Amino acid sequence: MIKPMFMEVEFFSFISLTLYQLLLLSICSLNFNGIQCTEAHRTNAMDHLQVSQKGLFKIALFADLHFGEAESLDWGPQQDVNSTRVMSHILDQERPDFVVYLGDVITANNMPMHNASLYWDQAVSPTRARGIPWASVFGNHDDAPFEWPIEWFSSTGIPNIVCPAADNSCSGDIRCGFRGTTRLELMRAESERNPLSCSEIGPTQLWPGVSNYVLKLSSSRNSKDVAAYMYFLDSGGGSYPEIVSSAQSEWFRSTSHEVNPDSRVPEIIFWHIPSKVYKKLGKKKCVGSLFEEEVAPQIAEMGIMKLLEERPSVKAVFVGHNHGLDWCCPYKKLWLCFARHTGYGGYGDWPRGSRMLEITQQPFSLKSWIRMEDGQIHSQVILAS
Ligand SMILES: [Zn+2]
Repeated sequence: MIKPMFMEVEFFSFISLTLYQLLLLSICSLNFNGIQCTEAHRTNAMDHLQVSQKGLFKIALFADLHFGEAESLDWGPQQDVNSTRVMSHILDQERPDFVVYLGDVITANNMPMHNASLYWDQAVSPTRARGIPWASVFGNHDDAPFEWPIEWFSSTGIPNIVCPAADNSCSGDIRCGFRGTTRLELMRAESERNPLSCSEIGPTQLWPGVSNYVLKLSSSRNSKDVAAYMYFLDSGGGSYPEIVSSAQSEWFRSTSHEVNPDSRVPEIIFWHIPSKVYKKLGKKKCVGSLFEEEVAPQIAEMGIMKLLEERPSVKAVFVGHNHGLDWCCPYKKLWLCFARHTGYGGYGDWPRGSRMLEITQQPFSLKSWIRMEDGQIHSQVILAS
């Protein structure tokens, strides 16, 4: 969700200048020396997505980390340290097979820099360090435009940002501009630098949405048998409206019919911003611990929910975005769930945690619970069996 403007106004002081320059230079050197991943690396990442010999596959959802928020103030970088600690605790306690970064990985509107991939890279580093594959979708803050602090327009003026030397590895005419980093650039940087990233740049006809793709979870018995399909959709926000388009809905319809024509294989859906229908759910049969705010849904519904409701193989939808909600509610024959606010970045002081999912292969079941930073577990629920 959008943070109030006054937060941004307070964030920046001239102290940020040195930090900005350092970050800029670091990113340039990252671009220059970064691992150049090949398609072969990406295939390796996909190969990791296989149900374990015990017949189980566990997923951790990291939602709304908001790395890079308030980078020039003491508490901004400290938030990122805290978020890293949350993820590390959860990964060490749960030892998941896979992680989903469920959007708002970074807060781009707080970054006076031309490339936010460094912060994105920090956010995925606890997962990468443990050798766990992951996938990500975009939220409404990841490519949001930089919000210029009002103080910069007062008599003190805009800080004298020194551009990097002309012969450095950053390219383009706008390296000194605060233009933000596009979805394409963020996703390219993640994929190219990380063999364990299963994220993909989706079909170009789904532009301006980028994080639209499907991953196959192979069964433990045979990598050609599919235990589940995981669909990732870009629900917009930031540089364009918060919506799942009718082109994305059609892509889901045709792809799911092609890869899973008889709806025999279970399907699970991930995106960032809840659909409008989340607002209409009665709370009676919901399972969760946070019911602290109104659902902030996408601006319109363009057909994806109807497809999901009607398709028997779709078991559940998982979203982030509302930091004060962590419930799962039944809706028709599927479940609509929020994750749990994982990051110290973003609004709200509710204790941090992660929604966990566990797929049992045979017979298929999908369980979920929330693992808190302090180790507690709550809100266990069976979403499909
Ligand atoms: Zn958020």
